[in-house]
Amino acid sequence: MERTVTLFGKRFDHFIPESEILQAVEKMAADIARDYKDEVPVFVGVLNGAYMFVSDFMKHYPHPCELTFVKLGSYRGLTSTGIVETLLDLPEQVAGRHVIILEDIVDTGRTLQELVHLFANKNVRDFKIASLFYKSEIYNGEYPIDYFGLEIPDKFIVGYGLDYKEQGRNLRDIYQLNRQPMINLVLFGKPGAGKGTQAAFLKEKYDLKHISTGDVFRQNIKNGTELGQLAKSYIDKGDLVPDEVTIRMLQGEVEKDPDAAGFIFDGFPRTVAQAEALDEFLRSKEMRIDATIALEAGDEVLLERLLERGKVSGRSDDQDPEKIRNRFEEYNQKTAPLKSYYEEQGKFHSVNGIGEIQEITGRLAAVIESL
Ligand code: AMP
Repeated sequence: MERTVTLFGKRFDHFIPESEILQAVEKMAADIARDYKDEVPVFVGVLNGAYMFVSDFMKHYPHPCELTFVKLGSYRGLTSTGIVETLLDLPEQVAGRHVIILEDIVDTGRTLQELVHLFANKNVRDFKIASLFYKSEIYNGEYPIDYFGLEIPDKFIVGYGLDYKEQGRNLRDIYQLNRQPMINLVLFGKPGAGKGTQAAFLKEKYDLKHISTGDVFRQNIKNGTELGQLAKSYIDKGDLVPDEVTIRMLQGEVEKDPDAAGFIFDGFPRTVAQAEALDEFLRSKEMRIDATIALEAGDEVLLERLLERGKVSGRSDDQDPEKIRNRFEEYNQKTAPLKSYYEEQGKFHSVNGIGEIQEITGRLAAVIESL
């Protein structure tokens, strides 16, 4: 048995051992068998999550019975979408029968409502609900849960048939999502300071999503999108792309990843207006910037680094010393004032950006771990 498992970069901690689950399943089978000993009930398993529960339940059900399945869909990732669709409908055999739904988990009750709806015109004799896991804290209470195995708090769980993005169903035990506090960082510094290089390491180390506004623009230029066409003339000269365009693009990038453990903003914000817009946007999502870390290096070193990079990257704005100087000038005029913006919030940290790459990652990690 693993203490933790990782699925799609998220950590899940051991929560309920298989032995405890099996005990609960056995007890449910015994309770239902007692109530239905004189009938031949039809059990209806709810796919996919309940398949393992149904299998173990059937092994412990001692009397004659039948089994069928339905399939509904509602979870996408970590949050219930609220839309429940029927993917596999009920057979006619349920008419006039005692039906017992076998659900893996009841949380808000939305799926249950859809199930009840499914049975509304099937003329079943009676209809009971049996759920292995039951989140009583968030259940809306509209229908009685006739039998349940284990009551659990409102945690996202995987294992024993339950999935996260379709994985984790094969785990024998139940694991719960470890929701660590988000870390949101701004990497700050002149062009060539090493923001992109360092972001690549930090992103792995802290499981963060890296958003480089420069990279997003370049990708859009490459793909010939409307945004790319808009940004191209500014980037080619080494000017900043207008705030309005950049802010909208950045918001779109954050919203693509609602489950992220945190973000590294690289190359954004670059103006006070962008910083204010970022703060307001994050506030609306109950998020915040935890730290702004500046990578410090002198202009002459940076100029040399960028010209070297230009030889391999092919970026035209890295090949012409005039354009590079213009980017430094844009930084001095528009971006440098952000230092006091973040200092006033007590979030500004400065790190020496000269040295071996690993050494600099170490300096950045020390700041992050001190937060
Ligand atoms: P970078 O790759 O970060 O050096 O960005 C390359 C170019 O993309 C910049 O010189 C700007 O023209 C544009 N750009 C990137 N980020 C921003 C931003 N936050 N605001 C305005 N323009 C940006």
